[in-house]
Amino acid sequence: MDNIWINIKDRLKVALPDHAYNTWFEPINLIGYSDNELILEVPNQFFYEWIESHYKNQIKNTAQSLAGENINIKYTVALEKPATVQGVGFVQSIKKTNTQKPNLNKRYSFANFIEGSNNQFARAAALAVAGAPGQQNFNPLLIYGGVGLGKTHLLHAIGNYIFEENESSKIVVASSEKFTLDFISSIQKNKTIDFSKTYRKADILLIDDIQFFQKKEQTQEQFFHTFNDLYQRGKQIVLTADKLPNEMKGLTERLLSRFESGLIVDIQPPDFETRVAILMEKSEQNGLDMPYDMVEFMATHIKNNVRELESTIIRLLAYSSLSNCEIDFALVKKVVRERLGNGAPIDISATDIVKRVSEATKIDEKDIVGASRRMPIAEARQISIYLCREIMGTSLMDIGMHFGGRDHTTVLHACRKIEKKIKGDKRVGYLVRSLRQDLTFSLI
Ligand code: ADP
Ligand code: MG
Repeated sequence: MDNIWINIKDRLKVALPDHAYNTWFEPINLIGYSDNELILEVPNQFFYEWIESHYKNQIKNTAQSLAGENINIKYTVALEKPATVQGVGFVQSIKKTNTQKPNLNKRYSFANFIEGSNNQFARAAALAVAGAPGQQNFNPLLIYGGVGLGKTHLLHAIGNYIFEENESSKIVVASSEKFTLDFISSIQKNKTIDFSKTYRKADILLIDDIQFFQKKEQTQEQFFHTFNDLYQRGKQIVLTADKLPNEMKGLTERLLSRFESGLIVDIQPPDFETRVAILMEKSEQNGLDMPYDMVEFMATHIKNNVRELESTIIRLLAYSSLSNCEIDFALVKKVVRERLGNGAPIDISATDIVKRVSEATKIDEKDIVGASRRMPIAEARQISIYLCREIMGTSLMDIGMHFGGRDHTTVLHACRKIEKKIKGDKRVGYLVRSLRQDLTFSLI
């Protein structure tokens, strides 16, 4: 009976699309099984809710059919490491800082930061600082760049790296808003001394998004003193901003010159190759095995920032889990179009597809939808049918209708045949890929 969960998983694996299985079932642990009760551990509450709302019956029925009797399934949520605080909520942290871990986002590491020509220098500088914090030349290190390009990621990667090397180093990480709020509330509570102690205790001070210091003169003043104090004692300071210091209006001169005294590095939007690499990596992290042409399609259209690339993958995953379908080109297209927010979808028709195939193969449109079984004509027809199915997701019957009233088995046969040829026949593979790209790109 110990194997019951393994058997349930085996069945689910067959019944569900790979990515759904990998996402939702691989991470579940069996805690125990007794008295017809199966206890499973899920990573977090969200997980539990998702499983309850999407897979409850499927799991229950599978369990029942395997055990031959009614099985109760109970879930427990794995204990998450409690979020630790330092440098935030300064009043409590003053007494506790030594035993507390820094408030770093563990997800952000150098290992999962993908390098491209757009961020190479920033990454190298961040790594140098992480390896030897406090070296005057790189102090402060200021990373600047647009939204969603990885500034916060690098900032936390530095913190995580240093913390891993030396758990006793005091890493204080806060957004500039947090810094401001802490400061304001310290004034209200007459605890400005406590405040400065909290921040001045740092060996490494990481402040995210310093553009929010703009126009807040008192906070800037406070930050200036903190900065000087740390700097003089050789402590490392790393800052991020969405623009260059001299472009930030409402920043006092002396703070500006402090920021400019160290090393300033920028992160640019990722180029095409980096976008492809990021998408591949993020797909893999999410247990998705995305074919290259879909990745390329996304990378071609989603250009602005890494966060968008990431959320496209998450959306794909959510959609396909919700509707329990495999991720195919039609779904990718739908999600990309939604992200681009291009208003009403402009849909492509079977006629458009036949037209493009006709242009590419020099075979008459009439012949493509006609009856001839001669080789180049039949193949062009099969390619058109395949593309209708792939791009539009049209039903086999509707496709059959468009191609001279063929029945669904013929349509299916055509799709299979082309699928095989794509793999085995370079010429057909190339033709289909380029047609598909042309057709789908023209949609957006
Ligand atoms: P910013 O702070 O510049 O607005 P973030 O650091 O929050 O951007 O990055 C947005 C998202 O994109 C994060 O989830 C981050 O992990 C991811 N990201 C950004 N750049 C990269 C990269 N080069 N490699 C991997 N992930 C990245
Ligand atoms: Mg950020």
